[in-house]
Amino acid sequence: MPRPTTLSYAMNKKTDKLLKASRDKESSLLILLPVGLITALLWSYFVSNLNRYLDGWIKSFTYDNIALSLTIPDKICFMLLLPASFVFGIVYVTWNKRDEKFKKYKMEVLDILEVDVCEHRSPCSCKDEYCKWIEEEEKVDLL
Ligand SMILES: [Zn+2]
Repeated sequence: MPRPTTLSYAMNKKTDKLLKASRDKESSLLILLPVGLITALLWSYFVSNLNRYLDGWIKSFTYDNIALSLTIPDKICFMLLLPASFVFGIVYVTWNKRDEKFKKYKMEVLDILEVDVCEHRSPCSCKDEYCKWIEEEEKVDLL
């Protein structure tokens, strides 16, 4: 199904913006998901070992010669926990901004859809065709 060719100028222009916003949002999500997974794994490792860390830390104060013994996974976790959380925060904020933008264009497209969707002056099927096209071909859930 091709893009309807009879769309009004406003509809064409806003649709281009909507499609770009949709793609930007998708690409943010592709980064957000793996970064989120890594961050969640690091935090769950940290939390599940928290008692051992606290125990070792307290002992290192009580008895001079007992140092907190950290395994290699511990060290990797400590090194990556904060940077991963930071990166996740940035990617999340970016995704959220793009999602807001996408929603804004979607509302505007829906407004134009009501009043000025195509060149025809008489009743036609452009509105339905547009909705089907954007949903099936561009994977944008409009309604
Ligand atoms: Zn029409």
